[in-house]
Amino acid sequence: MSKGLVVQKYGGTSVADVERIQNVAKRVVRTKKEGYDVVVVVSALGDTTDKLIELAHQITAHPSERELDMLVSTGEQVSCALLAMAIHKLGVDAISFTGAQVGIITDNSFTKARIIDINAKRIFEEIKKSKVIIVAGFQGVSLNQDITTLGRGGSNLTAVAIAKVLGAISCEMYTDVEGVFTADPRIVKDARKIDRISYEEMFELASLGTQILQARSIEFAMKFGVPIHVRSSFSDEVGTIISKEVRAMEDIVVSGVAINKDEAKVTICDVPDKPGIAAKIFKDIAHENINVDMIVQNVSRTGATDISFTVPTTDLNKTIRVAKEISQKVGAGAIASDKEIAKISIVGIGMRSHSGVAANMFEALAEKDINIEMISTSEIKISCVVKKDNGAAAVKAIHEKFALSKKKG
Ligand code: ASP
Ligand code: MG
Repeated sequence: MSKGLVVQKYGGTSVADVERIQNVAKRVVRTKKEGYDVVVVVSALGDTTDKLIELAHQITAHPSERELDMLVSTGEQVSCALLAMAIHKLGVDAISFTGAQVGIITDNSFTKARIIDINAKRIFEEIKKSKVIIVAGFQGVSLNQDITTLGRGGSNLTAVAIAKVLGAISCEMYTDVEGVFTADPRIVKDARKIDRISYEEMFELASLGTQILQARSIEFAMKFGVPIHVRSSFSDEVGTIISKEVRAMEDIVVSGVAINKDEAKVTICDVPDKPGIAAKIFKDIAHENINVDMIVQNVSRTGATDISFTVPTTDLNKTIRVAKEISQKVGAGAIASDKEIAKISIVGIGMRSHSGVAANMFEALAEKDINIEMISTSEIKISCVVKKDNGAAAVKAIHEKFALSKKKG
């Protein structure tokens, strides 16, 4: 009689080479021998996905997205087959599958497909035979039988979706760090591992630059109430539990600090201050599929105003081109841009019920003489844009100001 079904997802660093794959195999076998049914989801070995994308770009600057998915999905096929072999070597029965084989059906949006349905029939059949199931993460198949992928970091989404469909008792995400930290430990030496965090906070942190889990996977987990345990594949320590908000979480004003260095700021100068102009500008930008993040505009006293906004750095050139066209159309002035920025954000559901949080964040930056270029806030987060060079110092100062290294509760 099984103690229940667990899903374990291993990220690229956890299966980076043969030795690590063997290490993962041992952990999987241990869990199986403890009496659980185990479904494993794997990422591609190390930085395989980056390398494959690079290869495509050596052929053409604009590879077909269908062919890109065909290409990058091979990474996960390699790791799941190798892991199956490593488990066999330990004398345990295991079988690997591609996304298509286990019926992960998606829409047609190559490179960022959405899951429509999972028909896990094959998984159930093989579990009954007491096998360990290994599923290639990150991939699915469209209704037209084309291979699709679920966006970078998409193995997380595979794991959460499978955990939901199979009614798993836990969904463990194995990575190379001990859990989710109050800030990136490479920047803040005394960053603290968070024991428990809400879906909402984790979703914000992931969207704001904390790279440990794909934001979409957390959205999915939140929607279906799949509890996640982020932990290290190199130790047995308990990691971070991501779950529904519980009462005690509200007392924590700030849960973590995130930094994103992958955005650039664009300013359209001397924009006529008239109704309808902002709508025109951002319609044209959206039309080019550019994702605008922060926007700052003030009422002018002279009849013309500057509008600044941030976009992913990868879209900067396209944005400048579109902004120039728009500027001519609406009779605005020059376009300025700056890649050397960093967005620093704090996140915490306690912000809903505490005041003065923004003031404290700004004060932390002021004390270090760091200038704030843009600000945006929402219910559970505050973001400031600063010069990229000041990014690390800003994170440290804010972490210190809110005393995040001290254990709460
Ligand atoms: N291998 C894919 C990536 O690097 C998917 C994943 O790791 O989750 O984005
Ligand atoms: Mg990867």
